Amino acid sequence: MRRRVAAAGAALLPVAAHVAPGAAWLPAVRRLLPALAGEGRPGHVALTFDDGPDPRSTPLFLDELARLGCRATFFMLGEMLDRHPGLGRSVARAGHEVAVHGWHHVNALVARPGRVAAEMGRAARLVAEVTGARPAWYRPPYGVLSAEALLAAWRHRLRPVLWTAWGEDWTRRATPESVLRTLAPGLRGGATLLLHDCDHTSAPGSWRSALGALPEVVGRCRAAGLRIGPLGAHLL
Ligand SMILES: [Zn+2]
Repeated sequence: MRRRVAAAGAALLPVAAHVAPGAAWLPAVRRLLPALAGEGRPGHVALTFDDGPDPRSTPLFLDELARLGCRATFFMLGEMLDRHPGLGRSVARAGHEVAVHGWHHVNALVARPGRVAAEMGRAARLVAEVTGARPAWYRPPYGVLSAEALLAAWRHRLRPVLWTAWGEDWTRRATPESVLRTLAPGLRGGATLLLHDCDHTSAPGSWRSALGALPEVVGRCRAAGLRIGPLGAHLL
């Protein structure tokens, strides 16, 4: 337990280690810094999608979310948004939040110093240019937050947000049922759910598992009396 706390502290102090792997320190972050982990309003669940936008999959998510009457937050990669700016605009026009997931899907553990900060700034500028709105949120690829990334996020007035539950929707074997099963224990008030609207960094076509799980995820939240929507309605 003490080691976990120490790992989280080290990751968050600029004077300490350059990075810490998200998987190792997320449990401690959830306990010590619940807002960073995405712990929000008790009657609300935040729905977030990473890695897009992709013309093969993102429009299907937009259709499904419209059908469900549900808004979400899309953490986009600069390189994807740069290729598909019209799609990024469509996401924003549909009432969803567009947030920053970096430019390339780089793990801060292996990035040369300066790269994560530079790419975050470039992606944030592109989101603002494409959507007409300054982005509010930053989620690091793989959940790896370095001191450099924290400082850059502060400079760009981006609030870092991780997640409290994920659907493991990125694997080759993922199905709507497996995504639901994985998410189910985390479907509670205050949760921030992580799914992917794109297979750019995942098994080809794996986004279908997240898309297929959506109606039931939204339905279960609503049946439990919870509202489900973007981070802007979730975090205080
Ligand atoms: Zn990602």
